[in-house]
Amino acid sequence: MGERLNGRVAVITGGTSGIGAATAELFAAEGAKVVIAGRSRDKGTALADQLGENVVYEHQDVTVEADVRHVIDSTAERFGRLDVLFNNAGGPTAGNVADITAENIDYGVKLLFTSVALGMRYAVPQMLASGGGAIINNSSVAALRHLQGNILYSAVKAAVTHYSRLAGVELGPRGIRVNVISPGAIATPIFWGGSARANTLPDEENARKMAKLQGNLAKANPLKKSGLAWDIATAALFLASDEGRFVNCHDLVVDGGRTSMFNEYPAVP
Ligand code: NAD
Repeated sequence: MGERLNGRVAVITGGTSGIGAATAELFAAEGAKVVIAGRSRDKGTALADQLGENVVYEHQDVTVEADVRHVIDSTAERFGRLDVLFNNAGGPTAGNVADITAENIDYGVKLLFTSVALGMRYAVPQMLASGGGAIINNSSVAALRHLQGNILYSAVKAAVTHYSRLAGVELGPRGIRVNVISPGAIATPIFWGGSARANTLPDEENARKMAKLQGNLAKANPLKKSGLAWDIATAALFLASDEGRFVNCHDLVVDGGRTSMFNEYPAVP
């Protein structure tokens, strides 16, 4: 147990699984009051119960503006303040250049970008009333490189990264730091879940898939080990805590060096 978030109140979207769940656990262990926002009521309430009295679950579909607003406002009402927002919810999108549809685009933008922009929009007044805050948006190395998700996912995550950098310029003078994390190949259910509906597989099935995935991902970076949800949670903790007090408008890439080793084409002779 640490004290790096003592007295802070944090909202974590997509908090019932993977990176969000690991971050909820770490933030709570560091003294924060945490709202786990997500679509899986059973998983969310079970996790909140397990993490103790300072953690609660709120239902939220991030593609629904009223849900985004409700989670922010109800958090401030319940705990009297809002210090940290981790916009983490997300999932894969569909469509290649030659066959993409307007529905693919609308869904991808709504899920990955609009949710982030609106989360920030509703968090700002609550953070200002709390004397400042830290916003962390979960982007991806897909924002930086080809072949890390489909092209729509990459493009929309790039929008998340750029929006976050610029938002820190607007909000920094008002005491709100905005940063983005770009994870690369982290072993979570995103690799078999899909985002259209919540992951409802039994625990044993998730555990079996996780073990196999970690073996495969260990081959995908120079460290030769799999990235874990915990690796992103610790990055989020740094950005959320006072240790990150001078870090703003930053894209923190956490990928074990993966983005430095891509070699799709042979070296130029
Ligand atoms: P995950 O599938 O374990 O978690 C994603 C969470 O987002 C789930 O709880 C899911 O239910 C939730 N979610 C999806 N659509 C939602 C919606 N409409 N409303 C509310 N919640 C919704 O996967 P993860 O790897 O923990 O993903 C977290 C974030 O990290 C995502 O934004 C993802 O794009 C990003 N990311 C992951 C990786 C990786 O390798 N795992 C790499 C780069 C970026």
